[in-house]
Amino acid sequence: MTEISGQRPSWDEYFLSIAREVATRSTCLRRHVGALIVRDRRILCSGYNGSPPGQPHCTDVGCLIEDGRCIRTLHAEQNAITQAALHGVSTQGATLYCTCRPCHVCARMIVGAGIVRVVFFGDAPEGWASDVLRDAGVLVSGLPEPPRRSDTGWDKLILQ
Ligand SMILES: [Zn+2]
Ligand SMILES: [Zn+2]
Repeated sequence: MTEISGQRPSWDEYFLSIAREVATRSTCLRRHVGALIVRDRRILCSGYNGSPPGQPHCTDVGCLIEDGRCIRTLHAEQNAITQAALHGVSTQGATLYCTCRPCHVCARMIVGAGIVRVVFFGDAPEGWASDVLRDAGVLVSGLPEPPRRSDTGWDKLILQ
C-alpha cells in the first residue's frame, strides 16, 4: 500500500484498504473481517463479521464454536449482502471486496446476489468455494495483503 505522499493506490487497493477499516468494527473474538460491495467505483454497502441485530455479540458472551468455527456471527460478505437487501440496493453486476477469502457459503451467496467479481487478500477461495465461483463465471482476484500505511494507529495517520 502506498504512502499518502506517494503513488495513488489502484482501485482494488483503495477498496480493500477501506474494507480493512470496516473490519475493525467486527465483534467476533476470533477474526476481524471486512467487506465492501462496489459498482462503477461507488460503494453500495459494507459489512463486517458480527452477530445479526438483537443477537448477543462474541465480545459480550464469547464465541460460539462449532467444528472449529464461530457460528454466532454472520460473515462480512453475508452482512454486506444482507445490508443491500435491507436497503433495497441491487448487487447485480457488482464487485465484492473482502479482507479474507470467501468460504463456500459466502461464495454461494455471492453467486446468488449476482456479484460478478470478488477481490480479496489471499491466494484462492477455500476448497469448494473456488468451484462455485468458477462455475458461475465470477472473476476471482486474490491479492497479497500489504502492510498498513501506519503501524502507529489512527492518531499518527491523521496527524500526517
Ligand atoms: Zn465469534
Ligand atoms: Zn464466509
